[in-house]
Amino acid sequence: MALLEASGITVRFGGITAVDDASISAEAGTITGLIGPNGAGKTTLFNVITGLQPPTRGKVRFRGSDITKGSPNSRARAGMGRTFQRLEAFGSLSVRENVLVAREIHLGVKLIGRKQDTMVDELLERVGVARYAQQRADSVPTGTARLVEMARALAIEPKLLLLDEPSSGLDEAETEHFGQLLRALALDGTAILMVEHDMDLVMGVCDVIHVLEFGKVIASGTPAEIRADRKVQAAYLGFSDEEPVVPPIPAAHLPSESEINATTIELPAVESAS
Ligand code: ATP
Repeated sequence: MALLEASGITVRFGGITAVDDASISAEAGTITGLIGPNGAGKTTLFNVITGLQPPTRGKVRFRGSDITKGSPNSRARAGMGRTFQRLEAFGSLSVRENVLVAREIHLGVKLIGRKQDTMVDELLERVGVARYAQQRADSVPTGTARLVEMARALAIEPKLLLLDEPSSGLDEAETEHFGQLLRALALDGTAILMVEHDMDLVMGVCDVIHVLEFGKVIASGTPAEIRADRKVQAAYLGFSDEEPVVPPIPAAHLPSESEINATTIELPAVESAS
């Protein structure tokens, strides 16, 4: 059994079915990506897994237990760490204090001592924000703040790390460093599940990708399988998957949103009847 198994998840908001009988899983030591066009249901499914959104139907199992009705806090105690799309750090505390507090809240005790100091310092170093340790969290650049979020999530030593749009606000070099960090965490046995729009990052670091469209999982597989999948190509490019794919996606990654918006279709010239 996988570390995390979300099975048959459906979420309805009034007449809208945001997630429709979706099943996804995440394994220890593996990076899993959850992708799909805007409005596909990624955030809603993510929220079901983190406990912010009760599902209309379906089950979430984590480490062998049914946690479908568990609160976000009980999930954190069971070993789920998460970051938010909106940055959640305490602005008036230093970067270092933010990580320490996240650990204290998790353990439910005030932590004092060299052991905790070392742990926090190593974490800041590992995530790449050590030089900002004494700065107020609200004074660091957005890219750094994202990494502080990551350090806070890691402070609870999670078995499963859930990341919502982790690369947003990161520049190219930061994103590359971030990808390396994710690989290192996976190598240490952490399971990672991330909702992400940066296809280079997703295709570069994920072992498995689930693709959502209109709330349904339309494909699950390795980056190479996902790239070659006609339903996925159709979902991103907007043509019917019944039509022949001409030309196939040539690039090493799926097109970004801006690339899709910039796509112009050359129609063949029509000869005049006269
Ligand atoms: P994006 O990539 O744009 O963040 P997404 O794939 O995360 O999109 P969701 O935010 O999960 O998609 O939304 C899926 C669908 O559910 C959308 O049609 C959205 O408008 C709808 N939806 C999401 N949350 C609610 C809500 N609280 N009430 C009503 N409809 C909602």
